[in-house]
Amino acid sequence: MSVSDLSVLELRALSKSFGGVHAVRDVSFEIGKGEFLAMIGPNGAGKSTCFNMINGQLAPDSGEILCEGRSIAGLAPRDIWRLGVGRTFQVAATFGSMTVIENVQMALISHTRETFRLWRPAASHHRGRALELLAQVGMEEAADRPSRELAYGDVKRVELAIALANDPRLLLMDEPTAGMGAGERHGLIELVKRLVVERGISVLFTEHSMDVVFAFADRIIVLARGRLIADGDAAAIRDNAEVREVYFGTGKTFALSASQGAKA
Ligand code: ADP
Ligand code: MG
Repeated sequence: MSVSDLSVLELRALSKSFGGVHAVRDVSFEIGKGEFLAMIGPNGAGKSTCFNMINGQLAPDSGEILCEGRSIAGLAPRDIWRLGVGRTFQVAATFGSMTVIENVQMALISHTRETFRLWRPAASHHRGRALELLAQVGMEEAADRPSRELAYGDVKRVELAIALANDPRLLLMDEPTAGMGAGERHGLIELVKRLVVERGISVLFTEHSMDVVFAFADRIIVLARGRLIADGDAAAIRDNAEVREVYFGTGKTFALSASQGAKA
């Protein structure tokens, strides 16, 4: 089987400009089945623009996005989501007004395409499955608490359960650990990785902590000024001269010693 037979998503020469700013230029890469892929790069490198083209929030100026061989560039976000491209950490505006388990039940109802007319606040729809998902993210005890009362890190865990309720083939996570401390970051990404590996879900994520990236990513792609400048495993990225240059250039260095990030 060739690499492309195994790829869940493929970007081909994707480009997007905003006025005179080439946010993403000619970016090509593939995400393999079950792969845990980190996208890194300084602020303004074009990471979020890439994510937003993949999830349908933005239409590319040129290039192609293939989801299991099918072109999805320019499709509506909902249609892309239906094809199994999930996003974490984008909760509904109504999140706070529901209990923890109701939020997961809503996601399950939505995933199974039941109509919202079936929804009743005290409904037992999918309660068992929702509890199972909450248990997997360590939030079972909080099932019947109002979501608005949750601590920030716990909201992230519930958001993960919601994303998994949609049974995605690919999860997109743009800065999932934003606002978290070092220990919490590590914990969340470790949890995500454990749960997606079990399910064979591919992940594309951005993360500022290079310790976390080097510890968990199967592969790393690096963007700088809209261009993809490197694509490889942790060792290859650490040793890449252009990558080091980009990070030194921003005054931000990362795990350049062999001891850091050696944890695989
Ligand atoms: P990153 O996520 O890597 O920090 P972004 O994709 O957010 O980078 O931004 C890439 C470049 O595109 C930046 O120069 C940014 O200012 C610009 N940009 C992003 N979104 C918009 C927008 N909606 N309108 C104008 N410029 C934008
Ligand atoms: Mg961004």
